[in-house]
Amino acid sequence: MKEASPLHTKCPRDGCQGTPVERVTVQHHLRPELRGLLGEGPFHFCESADCSVVYFDAVGGAVYEIADVLLPVSYKAQGIGVPLCYCFGVMDDAVRRQVLDGGTSTAPQHVKARMEAEGCHCVTTNPAGRCCLGVIGRRIQIYQQERQVSRGESLRDG
Ligand SMILES: [Zn+2]
Repeated sequence: MKEASPLHTKCPRDGCQGTPVERVTVQHHLRPELRGLLGEGPFHFCESADCSVVYFDAVGGAVYEIADVLLPVSYKAQGIGVPLCYCFGVMDDAVRRQVLDGGTSTAPQHVKARMEAEGCHCVTTNPAGRCCLGVIGRRIQIYQQERQVSRGESLRDG
């Protein structure tokens, strides 16, 4: 009997624990010329903001980086043109502007309402292969901190 190959579930670049992602997710997001070479996996996704690895094959060892995928990856990028919710087109810079202007963002409620009404397709739309609400929540916190810092500075300067 053939023994199962050992699974390497930590990112080969930064050593953080990868999260399992379906092969169909990797298949959807890779540049077309790389899709034909895709192994059997299982595949993992690296969540680290400052690591250039997006996917890695936990058995075959293949690594796919930011430059190998078609869309900006919300876990690894901020600013204009970066989606947070890939199903309903919620953009990072719009959430940031809402938080800096008003202290919070309606993005989570907006996404939840549309999920309930229309259903979502994160397995294929989101490079992370899963729901965006965790990332949106963390991004709101980051921008709330930014807002506090900038308000503190303007109070001190005034
Ligand atoms: Zn990594």
